[in-house]
Parts: sequence; structure tokens; C-alpha cells
Amino acid sequence: MRYISTRGEAPALNFEQAMLTGLAPDGGLYVPETLPHFSREELAAMAGQPYSEIAFRVMKPFVGGEIEDDTLRRIIDDTYATFKHEAVVPLKQLSHDHWLLELFHGPTLAFKDVALQLLGRLLDHFLAERGEKGVIMGATSGDTGSAAIEGCRHCDHLDIFILHPYQRVSEVQRRQMTTVLADNVHNIAIEGNFDDAQAIVKASFADQAFLDGTRLIAVNSINWARIMAQIVYYIAAGVALGAPYREVSFTVPSANFGNLYAGYSAAQMGLPVKQLVIATNANDILHRTLADNDFSKRELLATLAPSMDIVVSSNFERLLFDAYARDSDAVRDLLARFQQQPAALAEAPLERLRARFASHRVDDDTILEVIREAYQRTGELLDPHTATGYRAAEVAGAGDGTPMITLATAHPAKFEDAVVKAGFEGAALPDSMSDLLSREERYEVLPAEVSAVQAFVARTRR
Ligand SMILES: *Cc1c(COP(=O)(O)O)cnc(C)c1O
Repeated sequence: MRYISTRGEAPALNFEQAMLTGLAPDGGLYVPETLPHFSREELAAMAGQPYSEIAFRVMKPFVGGEIEDDTLRRIIDDTYATFKHEAVVPLKQLSHDHWLLELFHGPTLAFKDVALQLLGRLLDHFLAERGEKGVIMGATSGDTGSAAIEGCRHCDHLDIFILHPYQRVSEVQRRQMTTVLADNVHNIAIEGNFDDAQAIVKASFADQAFLDGTRLIAVNSINWARIMAQIVYYIAAGVALGAPYREVSFTVPSANFGNLYAGYSAAQMGLPVKQLVIATNANDILHRTLADNDFSKRELLATLAPSMDIVVSSNFERLLFDAYARDSDAVRDLLARFQQQPAALAEAPLERLRARFASHRVDDDTILEVIREAYQRTGELLDPHTATGYRAAEVAGAGDGTPMITLATAHPAKFEDAVVKAGFEGAALPDSMSDLLSREERYEVLPAEVSAVQAFVARTRR
């Protein structure tokens, strides 16, 4: 399998290279040159199989023979053994035709574990084969850094450094990162805000001399292996509810669009999908683009669903690449204009997107209303991200008889603020985390200076 850049000016890579590279050198994102396709018989044969078996069958063609089957199976088995539910991603019925796909049974209680638990293990495998070490650097505003840390804590060939703004993340969020006491896990509290932390990470990727030749690796949502791991649960949920013999629909709380892009890919690969519904919070660039052809940046809003607070949706570029019939010149041109000023899509690509996706924006007041309403109607306490999906699914037509699968992207205990604001006492952390507030913590407080952070990374990596 070969991977090509959406901007058309970087060399094609194999799976391992695409994974280790992250962003293409031309600024684009890697996508498979051609997607694998599953026949009806192949899909039907996945129904009733364990999640890790479906994962193996779905991911094998993407890996393209670069990992031996036995090794790939072992990596997948290890990955999903970290989930606390035997079904890994259980489906829960909400009404006669509306289901929740619970993606939050991993170590940090949010869907990013599904991909990051795998990514860490895959990176470790390739680095071991090469006899190399790698360093991961990332910045977090609080709610996503822990998934990267949990995904790397067992990796012998990786050190991970996650920067968070000092005293600006909640205690639960901080502790989910800082109580991981593995030798290769390094938390840095930056005396500054999230943008300062992110700027330091960017500067470090731009000039890696401080690492003396060790590879710096990004695990953000543009890494293809994350999309690949996410395609699996669309197919698993689809065949569990009757595909390929009937269609299914999905609604996805969306921000950087990595999650729903995986759903779109699953449909391209043969899963019969009726509707794909984008749910956004008030940071609604995806919804505005589809509804009004308003592809423009707006100021960042802090919402009750903070993991969806974005200005630009990075994986949307992959979708644009297909909408523009894989014309990388057109994509490059559109994105260059978008960086400068409000942009608009050409007519044909916009029509293609509108034919495939519905979208809906859900503001904070509605999130609270939905949390209350869903609880009354189904007994399910939704987290604020999932609440955006629940509402968008209803607007888009859950109730039309086709199974609508809303992706539950986080456990409500992880975002207790919203749950309390909605009038509930709170949500209990699962047993495995009940002692989080008394565990030992470790982190380094550093000034918001590139040189201080780079000196610390160079000194403490193994
Ligand atoms: C990251 C995240 C999202 C958004 O997913 P994208 O792939 O960026 O669209 C939604 N909900 C939760 C809880 C998240 O952590």
C-alpha cells in the first residue's frame, strides 16, 4: 500500500514511513493511493467476530505486508486488552432505531484511546526493528494529552513529552497525565497558556538539532494510523446491526474530523452507509462550510465540549482532496486562500460533500438540555460531546427506521462540569480510576521558552 500527499508535492511512502512522518513535507496529509474494498461476503463474515479479529481483517490491507500477520495480531490483541469492556466498543440501544457506540472504555475514558493505544505499539514495533529511538512531543489544553501518554507508557523505544499550561488544566485532567510514572513519560507544565505550549512544540519540530539525530514524532490526529484504527469500529458496529444486508447511519461529534473521516472511509470501502452526520459545537467551521459554503476561520470559543474546540479542522483536507477529485493543485490553492481570508468551495466539490454529509451545530444551552432529555428518555448520562451527536442524530432523522449509530466519544465523568451544570450531582469515575486523586504525581514546571524545554528534553530522554 502506498500513501500519497493531498498536496501532491511529496514522494509517496509506505505504511511505516507515512506513520513515522506524520505531516508530509509539502504540508499535506497522507492518504492511501487506493482504499481497500470489502465485498458483501467479506463484510458478512465479520459479523459475530471478536473486535480484535475484525480489526486485523480491516487493518491488514493498510499495513500492506510490512508487519507479519502473527505480529500484527499480537499488537492488536495487546492494544484492545487495555479496554475495560469485553466488547471493546459496545453498542447500547437508545430507541427502536438509535444506538450509542461507546468508544470510551479505554484507559483515559475517551475515543482517542482506540487509535492511540495502537499507534504507540506500532511505532514501538517499527523503531525496534530499525534499532532506533524516537521522541514524541505534543501540547495539550488538558483533555487529549493523557491518551497519548497512555498510548506510549509501555513503549521501550519512545520517550514522550507532553506540555500543558501550568495551573490552567483541571485537576482530573492534570492527574490523568501526571500520575503515569513510567520512565519514558515526561509531563511539562509551561508557565504560559496553551498557545505558548503549542508554539514551543512547533518550534521544536521545525528545528530538531537539539535531539542530535533522534527522530521526533507527532501523534496528532493527522497520523494515518489513527484513521485506520478508527475505521474498524464503524465496520464492527455496522455488521453488528445488520450490514451488509441493510444500511446503517452514523452521527459523529466532530472537530478535527479524524473520527468521521474514518467513517467516510469505511463507506468507501464497501460498508453500506445511508447517512453520515457531522455534529459540531459552537466552533462550527465544518457545519458552516457545508451549510453556507463559508470556509473561514472564526475566533475560538470555549464551550462545554472542550475537546471539540477548534478553529481549523485539520483532517478536513483529506475530504477536500476527494471532493476535488484528488486534484492536489486545487486543494493547495484552496487552502492557501483559506489561510489568508474567508474562502469558498467550488460548486462541484461542495455538491459532492452535501450529497454525502449532513451537519448540525449544537450550542452550549442545547448541550445541557440534551443531557437532561436523553437521561429522562433513556437513563443514559451523556458527556457533553456525545450530547452534540445525540441532538444532530435526531435532527438528521434517527427514527427513519435505518439504524442510527451515534458515537459516544467520552465518558461523562471526564467532563463533570457540564454534567453538573445540567443539574446532575456528577458522574462517578469508573473503579479503575477511583483513586486518581490520591495517586503520586510527577511533572516539571518550566518557563515558556523554547531553549528551556529543549534542554530538558535533551537531558531527560532515555
Ligand atoms: C477529539 C474528540 C472529539 C473530536 O474528534 P475529531 O476526530 O477531532 O473530529 C470529540 N469528542 C471527544 C471527547 C474528543 O476527545
